[in-house]
Amino acid sequence: MRVLGVEGTAWCASAAVFDAEADSVCIESDPYEPDSGGIHPREAAEHMGDSIPRVIEAALEHAREEYGEDGNDGDGPPVDAVAFSRGPGLGPCLRIVATAARALARTLGVPLVGVNHMLAHLEIGRHRAGFDSPVCLNASGANAHLLGFHDGRYRVLGETMDTGVGNALDKFTRHVGWSHPGGPKIEQHARDGEFVDLPYVVKGMDFSFSGIMSAAKAAYDDGVPVEDVCFSLQEHVFAMLTEVAERALSLTGTDELVLGGGVAQNARLREMLESMCAERGADFHAPEPRFLRDNAGMIAVLGAKMAAAGDTVAVEDSAIDPDFRPDQVPVTWRSGESV
Ligand code: ATP
Repeated sequence: MRVLGVEGTAWCASAAVFDAEADSVCIESDPYEPDSGGIHPREAAEHMGDSIPRVIEAALEHAREEYGEDGNDGDGPPVDAVAFSRGPGLGPCLRIVATAARALARTLGVPLVGVNHMLAHLEIGRHRAGFDSPVCLNASGANAHLLGFHDGRYRVLGETMDTGVGNALDKFTRHVGWSHPGGPKIEQHARDGEFVDLPYVVKGMDFSFSGIMSAAKAAYDDGVPVEDVCFSLQEHVFAMLTEVAERALSLTGTDELVLGGGVAQNARLREMLESMCAERGADFHAPEPRFLRDNAGMIAVLGAKMAAAGDTVAVEDSAIDPDFRPDQVPVTWRSGESV
């Protein structure tokens, strides 16, 4: 099975080809980088409109070179299905991606697969680690939640009560005047920082970032060195996520944790989770960076699992959903998994 995936929920126009037999993924991406401020939905959509055709063509070219115009068997298209991010994400971006994916599936005469972007962040980690049924911490730009599998669905075990974790970090760096994305700059400046107290908000399995971000901005305005604020932001925010991840492992009795999302590129977050898992005797996996930030590779991989389970969607039923939650998805692909 070979699947072409298309991603474009916010900032990253991306297309990929996943070859399930070889377990190989080729990804073509074109990120949107705002000149100033954060991600502007209209500019992001304009970027998608320009870039999605280009990245799809590049991924298709790769498929044609690898597998021939008509696939290796000389019979049929170079891919067996087209998968796309159906949500969650920015509506104007999702619409462009969906339109391109529908047109491509029709042109190639292959089935269409509508993928939940957050489950793709999870499933790529499960796939790469070879884990059976992990708890997943999704630490991405617009989201932050813990998922565990129960009774045919991934359930949200805990989540942010306000902003996503990456968006929270980016709000602080915008205040300081740094360009988007802010997370890598916080990580860099945190290396020379010292600890200062900031709010730490965990309520049961949920957590909040708005208080800590206001306090971080106020500390910076009061003259606390920016390195100290960056260091302390990381220590507080990542400790909150680690606390809740540990509780999720404990509540579910699971001994596998996977990490997903763009913030998972942060070495300090991975270090905290790794050490918590080691202390509990649990296995921890974070996929390589190209699969953590938004990318079409993860869409193609989950798309292949869904297509193998017959979980495809008719074009007329393939509406996007900007608020698509992971627990809305019936998990069709885990019993008798073949990809
Ligand atoms: P979602 O997947 O929820 O739709 P998203 O589209 O914003 O989120 P991601 O690629 O998952 O995209 O994550 C982007 C976020 O990751 C940005 O907020 C960015 O600041 C953050 N980020 C990237 N690298 C790092 C890092 N090294 N440390 C902390 N945060 C980081």
